[in-house]
Amino acid sequence: MQDAITQLLDEVRARAGRLATRDDAEDFRIQYLARKGRIATLFEDMKALPPAERPVAGKLLNALRVEAEGIHAAAVASIGIAGAAHAAHLDLTLPGRAMPVGHQHIVTKTIDEIKTIFKAMGFSVATGPEIETDWYNFQALNFPPDHPARDMQDTFFIDDMRLLRTHTTPVQIRVMEQRTPPIRIIMPGRVFRNEVISARSHVQFHQVDGLFCDAHVTFADLKGTLVAFAKRYYGSALKYRFRPSFFPFTEPSAEMDITCYLCAGKGCRVCKQSGWLEILGCGMVDPNVFRAVGYDPDAVSGYAFGIGIERTAMLRHGVDDIRLLFENDLRVNRQFI
Ligand SMILES: [Zn+2]
Repeated sequence: MQDAITQLLDEVRARAGRLATRDDAEDFRIQYLARKGRIATLFEDMKALPPAERPVAGKLLNALRVEAEGIHAAAVASIGIAGAAHAAHLDLTLPGRAMPVGHQHIVTKTIDEIKTIFKAMGFSVATGPEIETDWYNFQALNFPPDHPARDMQDTFFIDDMRLLRTHTTPVQIRVMEQRTPPIRIIMPGRVFRNEVISARSHVQFHQVDGLFCDAHVTFADLKGTLVAFAKRYYGSALKYRFRPSFFPFTEPSAEMDITCYLCAGKGCRVCKQSGWLEILGCGMVDPNVFRAVGYDPDAVSGYAFGIGIERTAMLRHGVDDIRLLFENDLRVNRQFI
């Protein structure tokens, strides 16, 4: 019996240096330490010994079991640390991974740039609801019911009286109703038109409207402000012109063109060979608009203007399809950081 125990102790010790993997350690445990392992079998055999010999054999067997358990525990611990490092492919010398940082969408960025320029000229920002009434969107802006000018803006109607605003101009009515001149505001926001979606038009886009009203505001004030804006935004070397136009809420009305900065006025695809780019609509506030908000048109005058944001961003950055601005394709968005 003692020989058998000594032999097994030698065997266990010999295995101790060769427990390199989890499988080795598990195999060791099953062979020697399990309930039916070889050490347990020797404890069974011990019961057959004469009682006088049992204490010596029991002591030796216990010592064997403690040593085998120690070998197994040490092997598991060392394999555990090495195994975890191996499993995670941990290489502390690798550089860290950069986390992508978000940035503004080109539409938001364009609105912010325009706001910054006008704020520096004393304008403050006003906003209004995207669902408007017929009064604010049309009637107060000198579009009488059944007037053909309403056809200029294809409208999404919600019911007889409510609609999705077709421009941000209604905000100026809401502000004038609540305040007295002088008023100097810009009104950025989303607008909606019932149009076929194409490279050139979309059912939703953004505008920044502007309004300045006070006593003795003239067309010269309008020109001075808008030329200052255009030079800040598009560059001080540009040439500009104002063309007569029509909007129901301004009289007289104009559109402002600048020389195409891509071809310097020589004519190219973007400016359709004309050398000019239209950048905004503007005009002196129609007296009927002042009457609608309770102002006296003989005492108050003012100018208003409207800038299409998507058009501005597309011109500035050479985007040729408005749909690209709304599809949230990160390959597009990441180009405008
Ligand atoms: Zn051009």
